Amino acid sequence: MREFDLIESFFTPKQVSESVKVGVGDDAAVLRVSSGYELVVSVDTSVEGIHFLPDINPYDLGHRVLAVNLSDLAAMGAEPLWFTLALTIPKVNVLWLKAFSQGLNALAHQFSIELVGGDTTQGPLSITIQVFGRVPVGAALLRSQAQVGDVICVSGSLGDAYLGLKCAQGQMTLANAADQAYVLDRYYKPFPQVALGRALSKVAHAVIDVSDGLCADLNHVVKASGVGAVVACDQLPLSAAFCGVASGLEAVEMALSGGDDYELCFTLPACALKTLAREFKITVIGEVVEGVDVSYHYDDARVNIDCSQGYIHFSDVDIGGI
Ligand code: ADP
Ligand code: MG
Repeated sequence: MREFDLIESFFTPKQVSESVKVGVGDDAAVLRVSSGYELVVSVDTSVEGIHFLPDINPYDLGHRVLAVNLSDLAAMGAEPLWFTLALTIPKVNVLWLKAFSQGLNALAHQFSIELVGGDTTQGPLSITIQVFGRVPVGAALLRSQAQVGDVICVSGSLGDAYLGLKCAQGQMTLANAADQAYVLDRYYKPFPQVALGRALSKVAHAVIDVSDGLCADLNHVVKASGVGAVVACDQLPLSAAFCGVASGLEAVEMALSGGDDYELCFTLPACALKTLAREFKITVIGEVVEGVDVSYHYDDARVNIDCSQGYIHFSDVDIGGI
């Protein structure tokens, strides 16, 4: 199969919306940007062996690479609009491409985001997706806006994807088969919190998506906002599957440092909680205070948390000051 047939078969949407003047097929896309809005843009690369396991099934991979990008739009409170796909594959495998594009397109359809272009090259498997979304002018949610007195919340539950990764790597097997399936799903098929992000745009101060572990990501909020934070570790939302594996401080460390959850962590005035909690599963885990760092408390005592399990890319590689 030649490159053009491949693009035509798998990566050319059958219909395009009004906002796409020119989509896949020309030298570049031409997109209609509505007045009164700002464009929100993010890009993420997933490399085989680094960001996903070599034996991941292609349908899940298609889902995952788009989901992690949608999660960034969610964290900005943006409405997804368009995306581009730069696909580097070692060889043309039609069955693989079919499943990959099905996983990708299913999630794209679910979140009303349209593929408008890309690039296809040969090489070690790597996928770059760039997403475009919009927010009303001035409405983007930033990690730098946390305010002293805000409560700190997190959506969903923490640590499941970390367990899923351990199971996928064969380093762990959960006693209960349903729990095992659940954590694997949380790892392979993250669900981007787009609806929550958009709801937060009216009420939240600071928002970040939890991709590297809450510990690392909350640090970004604290640094960017110039505030401190206190986290009540006994309040962390943990799933039944997770509680079946770990308890006490060990569970806390795993939940705070494991990555890939793609939940949202956000700060807002406590009075905004009630309305939000009617529609979304959110948990208050702490408070924004004056200071410069995050302190963790467990059973009313301050504890030191080892967040070293959080994934820090290139932490042990000198890549010339990047
Ligand atoms: P160019 O030579 O101008 O880079 P290409 O031959 O790479 O053009 O691509 C032709 C068209 O197909 C362009 O509109 C491009 O955006 C689109 N395209 C290429 N690869 C992909 C892909 N993996 N997914 C979506 N669109 C793609
Ligand atoms: Mg090209």
